[in-house]
Amino acid sequence: MWKVLPLLALLVLGGMAWSIKSLYQERENRFRHQLEWELQAISQLQAKSVAEWRERRLSDAAALSDDTLFAHAVARWFQTPAEPQASEVLNRLRILQERARYTAVYLVDTQGHLRQSPGDPAPQGRLPEPEMQALQSALAQAQATVVEPRRDAVFAFPFFGLLTPLFDGVEPVGAVWLVSDVRTTLYPLLEYWPTPSKTAESALVQREGDEIVFLSPLRHHSDALPPLRLPLTQNDNPAVQVAHGERGILYGRDYRGEEVLAMVSTVTDSPWLLVSKVDVAEVFGPMRTQEWLALSLPVSLVLLFAGFVAGHWQWRAWRRERALKTELEHNMRWLENGQKAASIGYFAYDVSSQEFLMSGMASQIYGVPPERRTTLRQWVGTLHPDDREQVLAAHEQAMAGHTALRTQYRIRRANDKQVRWVQVWGEFEAQTDPDHVARMTGTVQDITERKHAEQQLAHYRAALEAQVRLDPLTHVANRLALDEAVTREWHRALRSGAPLSLLMIDVDHFKAYNDHYGHVAGDHCLQQVAQALSNAVGREGELVARYGGEEFAVLLPDTDVAKALALAHRMGDAVRSLGIEHLAAEGRAHVTVSIGVACIHPALLLPPAARADTAQNAAALPGATEVAQALFEQADTALYNAKKAGRDRVMACPSPQEPLPGPTRTAAESQEPV
Ligand code: GH3
Ligand code: MG
Ligand code: MG
Repeated sequence: MWKVLPLLALLVLGGMAWSIKSLYQERENRFRHQLEWELQAISQLQAKSVAEWRERRLSDAAALSDDTLFAHAVARWFQTPAEPQASEVLNRLRILQERARYTAVYLVDTQGHLRQSPGDPAPQGRLPEPEMQALQSALAQAQATVVEPRRDAVFAFPFFGLLTPLFDGVEPVGAVWLVSDVRTTLYPLLEYWPTPSKTAESALVQREGDEIVFLSPLRHHSDALPPLRLPLTQNDNPAVQVAHGERGILYGRDYRGEEVLAMVSTVTDSPWLLVSKVDVAEVFGPMRTQEWLALSLPVSLVLLFAGFVAGHWQWRAWRRERALKTELEHNMRWLENGQKAASIGYFAYDVSSQEFLMSGMASQIYGVPPERRTTLRQWVGTLHPDDREQVLAAHEQAMAGHTALRTQYRIRRANDKQVRWVQVWGEFEAQTDPDHVARMTGTVQDITERKHAEQQLAHYRAALEAQVRLDPLTHVANRLALDEAVTREWHRALRSGAPLSLLMIDVDHFKAYNDHYGHVAGDHCLQQVAQALSNAVGREGELVARYGGEEFAVLLPDTDVAKALALAHRMGDAVRSLGIEHLAAEGRAHVTVSIGVACIHPALLLPPAARADTAQNAAALPGATEVAQALFEQADTALYNAKKAGRDRVMACPSPQEPLPGPTRTAAESQEPV
């Protein structure tokens, strides 16, 4: 609908313009006809009055020629210039001048000498040349002859002359020269114009040879100049067109070159033509202005409407653009905020220029100036010296292989030299066309806090793990840690073929100690004993654990029974030398321990032929659980024996498969207090 509307509006406005144009054209035609008709009427009216004016003068002349009495009186006066003929002639001439209001009236003889005039009783001289010719013509043809309006030094005004011949019978006696001042008698007839006009004028013209001569004065041609003459070749001039036979209403250019509407009328019984004209610009100007104004209305409406439509479209486009911009800004802000919150920045690395284009956040992460390109050298400078080699290698690999980059490394921020952890994810964009440069784009995230949290977590986890395997009272390993260690060390023993020993240690008469000194003292005693036992071990893998209550176990990897016995003795000595008073036990002054020693040798569990390679024959050996059980049982048995033998001693349990290898003390020896 919206798209059809402008088309409809254009059609309507086009129709409006067309009808207004037609209306005005019709009006203009009517107006033109009216104007032409008016001009024609004026011209004909003027031509008629001019014709009458001329007619009157010719009839005066004819009447004078027919006046035989006057001609006879003149003939007599010429012969005898005396009264009464003189008065008779003069009166007649005076009457003629006054009645017909001639400017001058002269009686001339046949030779053209001026003989008598009412205004000038004694005129001198002869007729001017044109009038002389007219006189001769008048006398020859015996009829009045016209001298067309002209200027001459004889009079100070342009004049029209008529030479009226006088005959006394058939004898020519002279003529009367009737002179009319055309300025006051003829020209005013041309000035009549019913409506005021600035350009309208009528002129009398006459053809003379190859020229058209303007007889009457013109608005734009000075009277001081000779009469205007136009050659017959100037075809666009209405006066010239008339000479070529055109009649009626004519359009052309006048003597000034202006476009005119003209009407040419003939003046009856004369060679004169009357050209009445008016400037087209004056008569049609207002009409055209009106037409233009009327036409400009729909045009203005069209332009207004087009402007409105264009403006509306522009406004809609602007609104759409603004909405998009706002949305984009919003999204960008959202992205920026999101990136800021997550400490994520983005970057683009231009391979050819070796420069990084970084977002504000990325610049902040690396501590480089924002909104400026960062050179490769600058970026390398931010890498932590310990990570630099690895980072560059990862980058090079990704660039060379066009693969994704996923890496974490440390940087030393360019501005404050703070060490930060970053995570970089980059994608390589290959050069697809000449305008597209190969580059790597991606994100960089500051993960320092996360890294610290991870490290702390690992630390906590390790601590927790250790805690889980520690005895809270004595701070030596607990039963869980002992079980794991036994399994682990047994597997190692299987691989290495080395013996594995276990000591079971029990505090003597501890119940009595508790009862005597109290549980708090008992706990303290246990802590001291545990510390003494821990101090006695030192080799890698050796482990002191609280087995339960006042019993401890010591796991000794790669230790045969002799070494185990030696260590057990040292441990017994260490406890004893603590000197913890124990007066509650019979015959004792200090806290002591009894120790049972067990040792297991993987090779000895195999048949002699297979003993060379325990690892190879591991499948034939018992599992860790069985071994642990056996080891504990043996140590426990030995401990039991030690208790039975009187406590404060070390006893070893011989292996069920093999007797305990020497050189160790015999059971009897071991039963001795150490
Ligand atoms: P023997 O020489 O035969 O080992 O005699 P004994 O009294 O040491 O042995 P018995 O098993 O009868 O007593 C062990 C005592 O150890 C019982 C208990 O009160 C005490 N005990 C076990 N655990 C703890 C502990 O964590 N703290 C304290 N203070 N005493 C404990
Ligand atoms: Mg016990
Ligand atoms: Mg005990």
